[in-house]
Amino acid sequence: MIYYHNFLVDVAKYAELGKANEFPELDCCPMCRAKIRLKRHGFYKRNAIESGAEIYRIPICRLICPDCGKTISILPTFLLPYFQHTMDFIIRILLTSWIAYRLLCSRQLRRFYEKRAYGKLTEIELFIREQGNRKALPDALKEKAIKMLQMIQALGKATFVRRWWGHRISSFMAHSLYHGARVVKTI
Ligand SMILES: [Zn+2]
Repeated sequence: MIYYHNFLVDVAKYAELGKANEFPELDCCPMCRAKIRLKRHGFYKRNAIESGAEIYRIPICRLICPDCGKTISILPTFLLPYFQHTMDFIIRILLTSWIAYRLLCSRQLRRFYEKRAYGKLTEIELFIREQGNRKALPDALKEKAIKMLQMIQALGKATFVRRWWGHRISSFMAHSLYHGARVVKTI
């Protein structure tokens, strides 16, 4: 299971702190609901890419429930499950390409994220409406996508991710194959 936590640091700082980041303690198992302190269960490394040039190799903390024996991974809010690029970077790739016609990554990668974003537009619009935003959105697909990604940027990624997970168990930008992944929100 994935557990989202806002470490209040950006990817560079998180990478620098490594295992010394402030990892949350959980006193209740989000999987079996046992009122029990979850134990540390080591770390695994994954990539986090914030720009075209920089690849961070960051530790992800795992916890295990002594009761049910299941593990959870504590994912920083700047990352999306199953993607190496940070959410900020994905949004920048798309906006820069749509507005300024410049590429921040390979053409293939940009196309990949563009396809994902278009596939998620209805869901993102629903989310924006649920947040109480009643502003009219452009009809044209690309203009609509630009407007919505700018709204997400304005909301701040940590706030967006927290509220998004609070509303639905589905990954922002992820393929439907992964919709079964269980994710819980953090405070
Ligand atoms: Zn448990």
